[in-house]
Amino acid sequence: MEEEEFRRAGYALVDWIAAYRAGVESRPVLSQVTPGAIRAALPPAPPAQGESFDAILADVDRVLMPGITHWQSPNFFAYFPANSSGPSILGELLSAGLGVQGMLWATSPACTELETHVLDWLVEMLDLPRAFLSTGEGGGVIQDTASSAVLCALLAAREQATAGQGNEAGLAGLPRLVAYASSQAHSAVEKAVKIAGLGRQQLRLLEVDEVFALRPEALERQLRADRAAGLQPFFLAATLGTTSSNAMDPLAALGPLCQQHQLWLHVDAAMSGTAALCPEFRSWFRGMEFADSFDFNPHKWMFTNFDCSCFYVRRRQALIRALSILPEYLRNQATASGAVFDYRDWQIPLGRRFRALKLWFVIRHYGVEGLQREVRRHVALAQEFAAGVRADPAFELAAPAPLNLVCFRHRGGDAANQAIMDRLNHSGDLYLTHTRLAGQLALRMSIGQTLTQPRHVANAWRRIQEEGRAFAV
Ligand SMILES: *Cc1c(COP(=O)(O)O)cnc(C)c1O
Repeated sequence: MEEEEFRRAGYALVDWIAAYRAGVESRPVLSQVTPGAIRAALPPAPPAQGESFDAILADVDRVLMPGITHWQSPNFFAYFPANSSGPSILGELLSAGLGVQGMLWATSPACTELETHVLDWLVEMLDLPRAFLSTGEGGGVIQDTASSAVLCALLAAREQATAGQGNEAGLAGLPRLVAYASSQAHSAVEKAVKIAGLGRQQLRLLEVDEVFALRPEALERQLRADRAAGLQPFFLAATLGTTSSNAMDPLAALGPLCQQHQLWLHVDAAMSGTAALCPEFRSWFRGMEFADSFDFNPHKWMFTNFDCSCFYVRRRQALIRALSILPEYLRNQATASGAVFDYRDWQIPLGRRFRALKLWFVIRHYGVEGLQREVRRHVALAQEFAAGVRADPAFELAAPAPLNLVCFRHRGGDAANQAIMDRLNHSGDLYLTHTRLAGQLALRMSIGQTLTQPRHVANAWRRIQEEGRAFAV
């Protein structure tokens, strides 16, 4: 693509994205295509000759758009927010333009140093333990996802618990390692346990209380039983803001237990971590000083498009020992000097994108106060929605709503809730998903998209009430 053509096509694409964002509100949120429909509209073979960018972009509209579920719609209340923003999109574009591989400091010093710097900023912005700062023994790194972060934490913990033997001789012959999480922990914990070779049977998914938070007594009881059975407890994944209901595990009570039993404490705050930007929401984070590692996803609720997951460790050497490999072809003076971070040693893959750019753009565009304002806005919208649910005798809350997720249900039972959700999602007016809490279906209203305004939430609640009227309480 020649420079002039690139400019013309690039401006056209930026115009396309701007128009998309401006008009996304009027599109049906959930794609209604049937399986196979998109492929059927694509030619069976790739073109033998190159095509014009205009033709390609026209097919984005014609072929692909019907199969897009509009995550950036202000009426998107499903799963979790995956919010994006102008500065973040531009950061991604620049990252693609530079096309940098950031595996080593030496392969692009700015890629590593900007990342280290912005992650240090975030320690202050979220008021995280200063032990996570890169200026001491800790440090932060951008992972692709919270799933990768919990796997890295588990591998570092495994190495620490086996004094390095896991990497060298393997796990055979060692006491069996046991990991812990609540029954509400994200499935990524179970996946990490499987990948790390511990075996699913060595993961204890512990009992939660009436607000779906891990019971410290349940952990303590299980630790005793496992020790008595000759097993070696080594890892707890606590969650701040569970995926299902936004439950907050009590870190201040779990932390001392972890210390006493030498468990690595990983804190998964994938969505809710962003709330720590605001001092008034930090009470959920009490006990964070016990954490060995922490992770949150700016790609959920901090206006930074996927992928961007900020992972911190208290002792970076534990992580590096677990993941570092140095083949001859990667040797270089900067690495040998020990004066730089080589982030390939902090993650599973070797290669890495310049993700810090978009995060830096976002933080600079909004400023700390701008980000706080947006988070407060979303929490206030969710709290208003929750108040509406409480005030309507046909509905009830299914869990406390500490921040921006409201789990609720119609009092008419599972079938009514399923039907309400299906009808709403099919209408295209909004998109909601569900979970199961204490055996009953609950609808999840997740508020945090960049473009969501009070009228979108008010309209959603009006539509939910409207559909609810068809069912007896
Ligand atoms: C969304 C979520 C995850 C998984 O996030 P990925 O970045 O997609 O791996 C893990 N834990 C919690 C609590 C989440 O909300």
